[in-house]
Amino acid sequence: MPDIAVKTIKCSSCGASLTGISSWKPTVCDYCGSAVIVELPPETASALADRPRCVGFRIDAAQAVERLKAWLKSSFWAPGDLASTARTDEQAEIYVPAWEVKVDVETAWQGARSETRYRRVSKTRTDPQTGRTERYEEDEPYKEWYPASGTRHGSYAEMINASGALTQQETSALMPWDTGAEAGEEDLAAALGRGRRMEEPSVSEAEATTRAREIIEGKERAECGKLIERLDSASTKFGEFVARRAILPVWVFRYQYKGKVQRAVMNGQTGELHGERPVSGLKVALAIAIPIVIIAGIVIVSMLMK
Ligand SMILES: [Zn+2]
Repeated sequence: MPDIAVKTIKCSSCGASLTGISSWKPTVCDYCGSAVIVELPPETASALADRPRCVGFRIDAAQAVERLKAWLKSSFWAPGDLASTARTDEQAEIYVPAWEVKVDVETAWQGARSETRYRRVSKTRTDPQTGRTERYEEDEPYKEWYPASGTRHGSYAEMINASGALTQQETSALMPWDTGAEAGEEDLAAALGRGRRMEEPSVSEAEATTRAREIIEGKERAECGKLIERLDSASTKFGEFVARRAILPVWVFRYQYKGKVQRAVMNGQTGELHGERPVSGLKVALAIAIPIVIIAGIVIVSMLMK
């Protein structure tokens, strides 16, 4: 990797730290548009030395903007003028930090499965013709529970969000990421030289491991629940955690609509988009009002016909 001079800025509004090439002259934060940004001392740009895995972008700037515009147009609830009046010129290619946490697990589970059995029971019934009551016997079903237990093995590779600006919800919405061997790794220094940015991680390796553990415990419990009719307990033993810093290619758009800044994020590999679209007040009002008018009309007509 060639050595290049970088600079890191921190946004006082959303808390994100972004690293770019030293000639980069940012005026606002790429994530939130805040102008309150400070340059950090050079030693904070640890990223190049750490050599995180750099998964390449597959969607270029023109494709990204085209997809954003189509997405702005496609919502039924969005105001009609959204796509034509929203400014979409504020965009950045950001390598968003994450931890790829790999671990093998073994879960011991206990539960029970049932079998339907029948028992002879004595009942009474009254003959409707004669009015006489008589006793009779019938087979009645009941469930007998048998204890069951077992172990299952699982292999996990969880992608844990480490961005200070994007939420786990935002990054999860962009999943999945192709981080396999064919994912097209890029040289980070060269990528920054082309005007891309990289966010410094806000989540430590230890925090990421703890989060991954919670997520995997939940998934294991759900998997064990599929193995047995009634799951009573599941206890997961973890192997050695291997956490690797990854940086994920994300297009970040800030677009303005009627003076309000909205953010949308796009998976730079697949084009998957996530964000808030403004909702048209008029369309929502009509959607509520039209059924009310129809119902009121039916009520009035039915009253008049009585
Ligand atoms: Zn910010």
